[in-house]
Amino acid sequence: MSDMNPVALIERKKYGGELSPDELRFLVDGYLAKRIPDYQVASFLMAVVWRGMTEDETLAYTNVLVESGATLDWSGIGRPTVDKHSTGGVGDKTSVVLVPLMAAAGAAFVKMSGRGLGHTGGTLDKLEAIPGFATEISPAAMRAQVERIGCALVGQSPELVPADGALYALRDVTGTVDSVPLIAGSIMSKKLAGGARSIVLDVKWGSGAFMRTVEEARTLARDLVRIGEGAGRATRAVLSSMREPLGRTVGNALEIREAIDTLNGSGPDDLWALTLELGSHLLRMSGLASNEDEARARLTELRDSGAGARKLAELIEAQHGDPRVVEDTSLLPVAPVVATMQPALDEAAWIAEADARAIGDAVLALGAGRRKKGDPVDPAVGIVMLARIGDRVEPGQPVAEVHARTQEDADRGAAALAQAIRFSQEPVDGTGLGYEVIGA
Ligand code: URA
Repeated sequence: MSDMNPVALIERKKYGGELSPDELRFLVDGYLAKRIPDYQVASFLMAVVWRGMTEDETLAYTNVLVESGATLDWSGIGRPTVDKHSTGGVGDKTSVVLVPLMAAAGAAFVKMSGRGLGHTGGTLDKLEAIPGFATEISPAAMRAQVERIGCALVGQSPELVPADGALYALRDVTGTVDSVPLIAGSIMSKKLAGGARSIVLDVKWGSGAFMRTVEEARTLARDLVRIGEGAGRATRAVLSSMREPLGRTVGNALEIREAIDTLNGSGPDDLWALTLELGSHLLRMSGLASNEDEARARLTELRDSGAGARKLAELIEAQHGDPRVVEDTSLLPVAPVVATMQPALDEAAWIAEADARAIGDAVLALGAGRRKKGDPVDPAVGIVMLARIGDRVEPGQPVAEVHARTQEDADRGAAALAQAIRFSQEPVDGTGLGYEVIGA
């Protein structure tokens, strides 16, 4: 490998050529070991943005990323292992509902999550709104926890896929994030290293998502599934819309409250529908259910019997959080100012648009997210949508609550929301846009 020349490899990709697995390994390992400088790797990444990768290259690139670090071995765990990934959205608290339900159904579910960046929230920030909850636990403690209760909700382990961490940081500052093979390799390397045998991918599209159109989401989903299947894992992708936030809440503690409400049977329909969709694929892929009706009935029964909520309480307790929040969500952090937002309407109208991206940005401005890595987040602030796309609103009727640190912040949040919501004088169809499934 030592006679390989980074410039020759960059040039080959620049002209649309293909790199071999060894050549990709040379570049990635060379970057991690600081043998190849970041300007050459950045140049290679930009060539990939423009020229793409073949299917074989994408698979080889993903494997090189996986081989850069440790992988988790769940042999002997005695339960089918499952995993899930969402490409990121606004108000997406699905993992907090799905992980305990799947564990209650008999699966082993270790969900490694990230922090929010920009307008999209991160599951770790949401979980840390639960008083005491620890998202960093040792590998030995994690294994023991999964053996005992079937699940863990933790941060991405730094031992897994170190090359992705390094490359992602470089992509972030060189305008090379938006490449389907680079995104697919980044996501799937972490899933493969996590060791689960069945993987479901929630690929979001729409204003609040990475992929703006359903076509882009479909292209990414196909790559993700191909990589998972190529590595011998049962893999399916579900395309879901992010035209408005998922559920009614956006903001860390508010989203945990809504996830708990959903496990207790009183959550919003769209969050429950997505949980059922993703969970029913995982139950079937892992052999815990033999068909879709059975899978959905099982998840519903686990919710209605309280088994899912009890499992969440066990999970919170195992990770040093206060499990009483599951029975009493008023123990979660509360913002000092709660203001309602009333649109200026002369007559009744229907909500036609509740732009997820703009709402995510408004919640970020309230302090719930971070503009750069390491910024502190406020667990209590956020927005509750009292009305959603398709709802008829009377003049004077509030459409949202703004939970803020100060009255000034609340006023600014309400003004931003007013820009995010568009009304129609005609009825608007507010029913969900449904799901498209990619994979066998
Ligand atoms: N999420 C990831 O994990 N990686 C990417 O490249 C993009 C989104």
